[in-house]
Amino acid sequence: MNDLLDRELRRELDDLRLSGRYRNFKIIQSASLPEAIIQGKRYKVFCSNNYLGLANHPRLKQAACEAAERLGSGSGASRLVCGNMSAHVELEEELARFKQAEAAIIFPTGYMANLGAISALAGPKDTVIIDRLCHASIIDGCRLSRAKLQVYEHLDMDSLEHVLSRSGKYRRRLVITDSIFSMDGDIAPLPQIIELCRRYQAVSMVDEAHATGVFGEHGRGTLEHLGVEGQMDVVMGTLSKAVGSLGGFVVGSQVLIDYLRQNCRSFIYTTALPPGVCAASTAGLKIIQDEPQRRQRLWENVEYLRRGLLELGFNLMGSQSQIIPVLLGDEARTIQVSEKLFRQGILIPGIRPPTVPKGQSRLRITLMSDHSREDLDCLLEALRICG
Ligand code: PMP
Repeated sequence: MNDLLDRELRRELDDLRLSGRYRNFKIIQSASLPEAIIQGKRYKVFCSNNYLGLANHPRLKQAACEAAERLGSGSGASRLVCGNMSAHVELEEELARFKQAEAAIIFPTGYMANLGAISALAGPKDTVIIDRLCHASIIDGCRLSRAKLQVYEHLDMDSLEHVLSRSGKYRRRLVITDSIFSMDGDIAPLPQIIELCRRYQAVSMVDEAHATGVFGEHGRGTLEHLGVEGQMDVVMGTLSKAVGSLGGFVVGSQVLIDYLRQNCRSFIYTTALPPGVCAASTAGLKIIQDEPQRRQRLWENVEYLRRGLLELGFNLMGSQSQIIPVLLGDEARTIQVSEKLFRQGILIPGIRPPTVPKGQSRLRITLMSDHSREDLDCLLEALRICG
């Protein structure tokens, strides 16, 4: 490698190590379940987004195998060339039906859905207005769009209105929020955001990555939960969390989806998802509708763990979902506690800057429907000792 580049990269990596921010990757030798095998040892997992356990569900695995047998392991081209297989179309139709929208478009990942949709809908003459804690993929989509990026304070509707009221000069105003925030687990006030967008003629967009399959009586997401389905212009989500597979999507009006198909670079210039992955996603969406008991078990687990953590005196940062942060504050202490838990056979990452603001380092617990009471009691006991 070029000597200068080699030296520079080594220095940056050393800096990361010295500041304790070098990230290590654990090798998981088992399927995505509440228990993982790492270096031959068993660990209880409290950090998976496989909220409903579908990533290891027999119907998804069978759907993936059958589609792979019939259509192969790869799609061979982008959707617009010759990679547009029946499995892609079936998934988009199922998504539109499930989300009660006119149409749907899928992307290889949720990250690419945000990148593609935001940069197709906003340009240099526009402004994108986002919650301070929006996910990195939203921020990156905004940057790529070259629209003016404006940030409002987390969940603060006065702050959003303040920004909107001064944004009349832009051609288009696009307001974007996560519905469930990925590091805090709290819920965006979608009805108020919808009302402000109407008042200021702004376009509304929501990221339902952590809500799809989990929130709402039928698992359709936070829009269902809050009774405002069909009222946001652009609804994005991912197939890689509760749906148990991989991929991102946007649902909305037929015109919106047609426009995105013609304009999203992360849709056009990339190979279509493998058919097996699409078939697994379609099966996952059906199970979300057929097996509400999974969602119910997840919520029982959330209630049980929350109560236990609050009794132990932890600060859960206003979480209202299956994502439960335990605020510890100090970076070094957070890592220490996470490592101590790991030695006791419990896998929970410590989250620290730059992922979260300074002084707000935390353990980020995520729950699954398949966690047992014994799993949760074990976690509570370990946290009582460590925390
Ligand atoms: N949005 C949010 C809020 C997320 O948390 C994530 C994933 N962590 C994404 C989008 C990206 O989704 P994917 O993992 O499917 O790329």
